[in-house]
Amino acid sequence: MTGFPDWTGETPVNCAWCAAPLSGGVRRPGRTECPACGSATTDPMPDQQSLDAAYGDWYWPSSGTRFGAIGDRLLRRARASMASRINEVAPAGPILDVGAGEGTLIDALEELGREASGLERLPSREDIRDGTVFDVEGPYAAIVFWHSLEHLPDSGATITEVARKLAPGGVVFIAVPDLASRQAQRFGDRWLHLDLPRHLVHLRSDALVAGLKERGFEIGEVSPVRAGQVVIGWLDGFVTGLPGGLNLYQALRRKSARRIRMSPAQRLASIVAGVVLFPLALVCAAAEIRSGRSGTVYVEGRLV
Ligand SMILES: [Zn+2]
Repeated sequence: MTGFPDWTGETPVNCAWCAAPLSGGVRRPGRTECPACGSATTDPMPDQQSLDAAYGDWYWPSSGTRFGAIGDRLLRRARASMASRINEVAPAGPILDVGAGEGTLIDALEELGREASGLERLPSREDIRDGTVFDVEGPYAAIVFWHSLEHLPDSGATITEVARKLAPGGVVFIAVPDLASRQAQRFGDRWLHLDLPRHLVHLRSDALVAGLKERGFEIGEVSPVRAGQVVIGWLDGFVTGLPGGLNLYQALRRKSARRIRMSPAQRLASIVAGVVLFPLALVCAAAEIRSGRSGTVYVEGRLV
């Protein structure tokens, strides 16, 4: 009993990241671990119908807000700080944001005087289009995957293509959950950042770095902090582990942006539990970060 939604699709034959055969890999609910790189590939790989159902209307509700005014403002602020980092590290030239959402990072980059555009399913504005890095021209000074690489069915092939679409000295910026983290091991099948079946690959930070080097990237900053979402990974794990069908992540989302139905009592209990357990989650996150590896990893790779 994992609480996963059901989905259908084909069994993947090769690791989505390193392309090694998955035969012989450890099968866990909803994913298979690669015997070569240790990352996991979602299994079965959801078909289009399952993906449409998995994203539904709740992931990006048409009202445009997911976590309420304060949460969305915090997300915007995080994007603005990301934009200054990209501006600092990337050489001159255009920037592509893969998984651009509503375009907050594009706006933040443009405010810094950078030319930027994005890719997103169901694009909501002119400078964002539906498509993949295989569909764009390039060359780009930087290509950004801010919690988006794990949503792609072909993450390894995508990064190979990124190396072709970057200008010499161009930089790829990646933020993803880290399967090698303590929180991933502690919470296992109910780890928040597995997010099955929307996440199609579950990378280990060491495999991510190794794969970038193999594709000709020189590794710059690797950070257990910059990709964020470390505390929420612990806090959600603690709250969903309590009896009573509590779910903090869903309780924090606005009603229209929730995947599951929750009674007002369940929502309140989830939030109260979240407040009570917050200090513990903070301590666990700090310890994880101090160990150099956390629930998420941020990596910069420069094409040399
Ligand atoms: Zn692999």
